[in-house]
Amino acid sequence: MIAHTGIESINRYRGTLREEFCDFLGGLWKVRAAVPVLEWALQETGPDAESLSDKPYFAHEQPQMTADFFREAFAPVIRYLASSQSDFAEVAEKLEKEVLLQLADSDLAKAFTEPQMLIARLSKELGLELGSDSWFALQLGVITVLGPTACAAASQITLPEGIEAKDGSCPVCGQPAEIGILKETDELHGSPRELWCAFCETQWPYQRIRCTHCGSRSQTDLSYHFDEGDEKRRIYFCRACSKTQKILVEKDIQNPDEVDLRLEAIALAGLEEAVWRRCLEKAKDDGKSAEGAEDPRWAN
Ligand SMILES: [Zn+2]
Ligand SMILES: [Zn+2]
Repeated sequence: MIAHTGIESINRYRGTLREEFCDFLGGLWKVRAAVPVLEWALQETGPDAESLSDKPYFAHEQPQMTADFFREAFAPVIRYLASSQSDFAEVAEKLEKEVLLQLADSDLAKAFTEPQMLIARLSKELGLELGSDSWFALQLGVITVLGPTACAAASQITLPEGIEAKDGSCPVCGQPAEIGILKETDELHGSPRELWCAFCETQWPYQRIRCTHCGSRSQTDLSYHFDEGDEKRRIYFCRACSKTQKILVEKDIQNPDEVDLRLEAIALAGLEEAVWRRCLEKAKDDGKSAEGAEDPRWAN
């Protein structure tokens, strides 16, 4: 399976995703391909398996992007977003001419482990409403600028054998897993599961029956859901924490080389939200409080 953010991938998903959205993403990925990558060399001795179970790799050592580099890389991305989304045009002007100019290098010190903090700060200064179209565009924009450097840095890292992640967050950058893959069954291990990070594109092993958010291993807490006739795309729901995880079942996929994890995750967003709402209702009916449950659309 691939995650190369390529135009050919998008064309394969034109039947699955909305046509205008494919056009928008195609344009964004073209812009992303031209985003400069910050040079960063890994130190020779990385953290060991034990410390990675506690903190992600980038918390020990991460690329340090300067505010100037960020502003310059962001400019064409902002222009693209403003041209494709009219609401964002006004925001874009304030972002470029005011908000970004106030950023200091220190504001980017943790950009690769806490991109949400950076997005939240920019969003607050722009006065954006959480979940609004412009908020989504800003989030996409920041990730588009940081993503190529995160991927290049992560590609230098070989994870030590036997990492036992405490939850489903990425052992390299700490972002929540975007999607899980249930691998082919082998006699020794059953069907192992791997998780994939959309930010730095790391893929790592994780227990098959375990919530990726709260770590619950209780079979009664975990249920899975799919649309009739499409068993390969599933949503796991955990009753212990009321959160969801997108899953692909490898054995049910006919051409794994043509599967794009990033686009699969987008394709699963509608089912994820529907399952989340249905399961929350059921939990309430069962007398189980669903207070504090986060909408999966903004949880990541
Ligand atoms: Zn990652
Ligand atoms: Zn859970």
